[in-house]
Amino acid sequence: MKKNLFIAFEGIDGSGKSTQVKLLAEYLIQKGHKVYTTFEPTDSRIGTMIRDIFNHRMEGDQRVIAALFAADRLHHLLNNTDGILKKISEGYTVITDRYYLSSYAYHSVYVDMDWVIQANSMSADLLRPDLNIYIDISPEVSMERLRKGRDAMEMYETLDHQVKVYQKYEEAMEKVKNKEQIVRVAGSRSVEQIANDIKVLIY
Ligand code: ADP
Repeated sequence: MKKNLFIAFEGIDGSGKSTQVKLLAEYLIQKGHKVYTTFEPTDSRIGTMIRDIFNHRMEGDQRVIAALFAADRLHHLLNNTDGILKKISEGYTVITDRYYLSSYAYHSVYVDMDWVIQANSMSADLLRPDLNIYIDISPEVSMERLRKGRDAMEMYETLDHQVKVYQKYEEAMEKVKNKEQIVRVAGSRSVEQIANDIKVLIY
């Protein structure tokens, strides 16, 4: 790995993104890189509004959610405190748990995918991931993992919805395949096997 990279992890809920973000960060730090890990929705005021809608503390139409995610992402990139662009300019490799491919998949269950892509085009122009790592796992397996691991199911975490998002990810990746660097990693294996595949991709 020559320069500091921007890497986005993608996949349906429970696919193992946060697990692999952590392991990749540890590996790169051990190799001597400066690494900054982050996630979307962020913990900014905008991200907090999104979580409030998910947790039914605030009303929010799916179109509003899609627009809030686009705003949260721009803030994620541009803010002067811990913005991704600032971190990249400081020489960090930035690893994010979700980026705009997530929006393409999740919001297009409810709103036109081309609109979602357009609404996020400013983020894409500002910073395209050097690599999108899509962890591919069936909705059934992911639901099983989520059932084991969590008490409260979020708005999106039903099998029916996971199936729709899974299909939308496929549609989105096909649509943007000429613009984006996307690698698919088989996610229904052990944490270590997946982590090893990802190490080989990056290094
Ligand atoms: P995501 O961030 O994509 O929602 P997580 O990394 O939080 O997924 O993983 C969801 C759950 O599945 C967690 O309980 C985690 O410990 C477990 N998990 C993650 N990767 C694997 C794997 N390869 N095999 C089995 N369980 C896993």
